[in-house]
Amino acid sequence: MMHSTLSGVRAGRHAGCMGLFLLALWLTGAAAGGARAAAPTPEVEIAGDVQPGALIRGRTAPGNRVRMNGRPLSLDDEGYFIFGLGRDASGAVRLEVTAPDGASQTHSLAIRPRAYDVQRIDGLPQGKVTPDQAALDRIAREQKSIDAARARRSDTKGYRAQFLWPVKGRISGVYGSQRILNGVAKNPHAGLDIAAPIGTPILAPAAGHVVLAAADLYYSGNTVIVDHGLGLSSTLIHMSRMSVAVGDRVQAGDKLGEVGMTGRATGPHLHWGINWLDQRLDPQLLLEE
Ligand SMILES: [Zn+2]
Repeated sequence: MMHSTLSGVRAGRHAGCMGLFLLALWLTGAAAGGARAAAPTPEVEIAGDVQPGALIRGRTAPGNRVRMNGRPLSLDDEGYFIFGLGRDASGAVRLEVTAPDGASQTHSLAIRPRAYDVQRIDGLPQGKVTPDQAALDRIAREQKSIDAARARRSDTKGYRAQFLWPVKGRISGVYGSQRILNGVAKNPHAGLDIAAPIGTPILAPAAGHVVLAAADLYYSGNTVIVDHGLGLSSTLIHMSRMSVAVGDRVQAGDKLGEVGMTGRATGPHLHWGINWLDQRLDPQLLLEE
């Protein structure tokens, strides 16, 4: 359990809808500004271990506004909101909650540092496979359609639930790991790899709306993106078969497709990524332990 060190708040367990409340903050201090002494200070509850890769869930009164590091967050009709922390997030998150009457309070949540598996491999023979211009053009086109899919918003509330394993199997790649080859840092691994035989069903980890179901993308092969709401989405790739189409609504546990090794994959596995807006999150942190 993670407790806040903020003054004027109390940490505790919350019995709310999400089941996972590692940290709950009730903000009870005085309103900012003496002139507003009579105005009630906006309350907010926060749940989640504040560390890189995490999804943090919160709730405040509907009608309040919430900013995270200056960025306005979307709230649902019951005042739930979420935000995510990318791989290299550090320092603290500044959360500002403002009531309709203007009463406002700012909280600083310290980000717990996190280490990743980084492998340095030197002395490799030089020379690598670089995609030719036609492939580069194709990759750029595909990335545009992926970005457009992730930008779609639907009214799903999948973000509220604990996530399920989409496939049970051996974890063959973890979030955040990175290779440094001959001194050149490669892109960190942005998801979770689960090895499983070809044809193993891939299940929706949470409810949502299918916003992309694209065959044979250059890197990711058969690719499905499920929007879970409020900017949170799952990307599931390398499928041998897809069972859904754009526009489908899915519940947690519904079949999305089957494990494969389409695209650039060296063996059959599911690569599962989670995005919150422009941040890539660690799927393992959204799963029940
Ligand atoms: Zn992967």
